[in-house]
Amino acid sequence: MTLNVSALRAAFPALAQEVHGRPLAYLDNAATTQRPRAVVEAIARFYEHDNANVHRGVHALAARATDAYEAARAKLAAWIGARSPREIVFVRGTTEAINLVAATWGRKHIASGDEILLTEMEHHANIVPWRMLADAVGARIVVAPIRADGALDLDAFRARLSARTKLVAITHVSNALGTINPVEEITALAKQKGAHVLIDGAQALAHLRPDVAAIGCDFYAMSAHKAFGPFGIGALWAREEILAAMPPYQGGGEMIRTVSFEKVEFAEHPHRFEAGTPNVAGAIGWAAALDWMAKLDFQAVHAHEQALLEAASEALGAIPGLVIHGTAKAKAPIVSFTVKGVHAHDLGTILDQHGVAVRAGHHCAMPLMQRLGVPATARASFACYNTHEEVEALAEGVRAAMRMFALEA
Ligand code: PMP
Repeated sequence: MTLNVSALRAAFPALAQEVHGRPLAYLDNAATTQRPRAVVEAIARFYEHDNANVHRGVHALAARATDAYEAARAKLAAWIGARSPREIVFVRGTTEAINLVAATWGRKHIASGDEILLTEMEHHANIVPWRMLADAVGARIVVAPIRADGALDLDAFRARLSARTKLVAITHVSNALGTINPVEEITALAKQKGAHVLIDGAQALAHLRPDVAAIGCDFYAMSAHKAFGPFGIGALWAREEILAAMPPYQGGGEMIRTVSFEKVEFAEHPHRFEAGTPNVAGAIGWAAALDWMAKLDFQAVHAHEQALLEAASEALGAIPGLVIHGTAKAKAPIVSFTVKGVHAHDLGTILDQHGVAVRAGHHCAMPLMQRLGVPATARASFACYNTHEEVEALAEGVRAAMRMFALEA
């Protein structure tokens, strides 16, 4: 089945606009996707009809809000193959999910001399919390390298696993290279050494159907806004027995059973990790995004995205002086590139003048930029609603930038 891209686009009001007099080509989906109208409407409906705080009220609106919030939890659990909604902790996003694991499970289980194994392609969200933890407890960060094509060097990864490895924390899909990591294989290797595994799923949700049971990992971190949902909501999935034994994160309302000035008894998971009023509207909007995604044929999405990736790689690859960073075989539709003689930020600004929205910078992956030997790249990242015309606009914009810099294009 082929994807009806124009019907898909019609669901996204933000896509139908001009920027600087040109049709918008929104190619910054790895930073955040656009949201379908159904998500915006679900949020508006909640605020207009059901708005109330959750878990505390006895009145009708509070009951409706609580039901919708908990239904969103169940929907996400089912979407990623969790055994129970109790394995889903709502947080602000991937960053908070990883910080939660570092601050609770990490503080309890990682000690002086232990090792945390990361890779060269990690986002700062999957580096900084571990660096902070390692500094606090005296643990060591070990880094598995990538190959020249941007794929993880699996042999080197295997060689860096040891009896001291307590945790492997790795991205499912690299935001800066597009590389899709073989997370099942990586998890199996880590488990052979008795290590726990955290997967940073920020970039995976819009393109893959991650199944935490099939992966076999212990933690999976997500952000709704990277997969057609609202800002300010994400989730940590963790195996129930791990969550049940994890000490609390932040303290406050919602996460307690009883409180006195002398002693606090904490609530059970997942509520033990959700102190304070949660992002109720965000969870409801996320559920609407999952409903919208459930109508997609993911095989057709994959085929379309791979065709866009191939077309973009070919069109950009044909430009003299342009280097694509990340050409691994298993790739999400993300193309990071540099052009000799043009700074990535200039490329981004000139592309914007052509209505083409890309990201330029270090993509919160400074160690990776260092490994690639560049200060920054320009990055075009596609979603299922992008078109081949937009690929052409991207390539034309890059050629125009090169002409401005008097470079052959
Ligand atoms: N990991 C990866 C691979 C990402 O691409 C991002 C977002 N750029 C994050 C983590 C952090 O996600 P968030 O900002 O939504 O917390």
